Amino acid sequence: MLTVLSGGTGTPKLLQGLVHLVGQENLSIIVNTGEDLEISGLYVSPDIDTVMYTLAGVVNEETWYGLREDTFEEHEKLKQEGKSELLRIGDLDRKVKQLRTILLKTGEPLSAVTRELCRRFDVLANVMPMSDDRVTTRIHTEVGTMTFHEFWVARRAQDRVKSVLFDGAELARAAPGVLEAIEDGEAIIIGPSNPVTSIGPIVAIREIRSALKKLREKVIAVSPIIGGSPVSGPAGALMRGLGYEISPLGVAQYYCDFISGLVIDRRDETLRPKIEDLGIAVFSTDLLMPDLPSRVKLARSVLTFAGIKAKFRSG
Ligand code: GDP
Repeated sequence: MLTVLSGGTGTPKLLQGLVHLVGQENLSIIVNTGEDLEISGLYVSPDIDTVMYTLAGVVNEETWYGLREDTFEEHEKLKQEGKSELLRIGDLDRKVKQLRTILLKTGEPLSAVTRELCRRFDVLANVMPMSDDRVTTRIHTEVGTMTFHEFWVARRAQDRVKSVLFDGAELARAAPGVLEAIEDGEAIIIGPSNPVTSIGPIVAIREIRSALKKLREKVIAVSPIIGGSPVSGPAGALMRGLGYEISPLGVAQYYCDFISGLVIDRRDETLRPKIEDLGIAVFSTDLLMPDLPSRVKLARSVLTFAGIKAKFRSG
């Protein structure tokens, strides 16, 4: 069993490669819920949906958000009525979010609801929210405090970041199965996700962070930063705001108390000595994953680095 910590763009790409090599049934995925929000009365959990849709083979790979070939009639209608939605929700995607909202209203925790949605999508991997408690990422900027989507979607990360807070993380408990997945996983892989707003909320939960620290020897991360900038998204602006260098070294510094290995891109090889000085082993390879073959190739390198013999699928 492999355990992966995930956000909603970089890590899902790697997940496709991992699924190809070890099969979904051998994967436990702990997903960020710090970006969860309510839109038009719906409970929206963007990263859980992306992970679930990726594993179901129906994700929109143009945006890594929502379903492939969805339509947007309701979203457009609401816009015309002056009820613009912060995120573009497709018509089929909306049905999934409606079902989640209804199930949550019956009193089921998010972890159980996620299991049920995954069952309906025939997803065999164990997909878990980081917590059943609400944790909300808040970004303090020079123009005020905002949620991740206000910062990134509405304002395109234009405001200088002063600090980032994970509201609710202090008291949040890990969702059922999360600590077991960390303890029992042959390896823990922190995928190439935004360190601050995708992995940050997960490791802000005290019992998750201390489980990772205790098992640091089997925790490795994959850098989302290649050659001084992220492949996509606002990780650069956020890391800079928190005083981290935008490089795999900055990623290593952010994760250093709970990882023992970091996969970096070949072009960042010069940073190896500084990362190794933090007590972190380095493996360098090609980190860009534009297509399935590159995702499988990187997944294979990650497994090799983690010392795992992948059960390669025949055929
Ligand atoms: P979010 O929830 O949509 O913010 O998604 P994530 O945090 O999971 O993913 C965003 C991160 O994925 C960014 O920091 C990107 O640099 C990283 N990313 C996207 N594509 C790739 C890729 O092909 N390779 C690597 N190494 N990182 C990637």
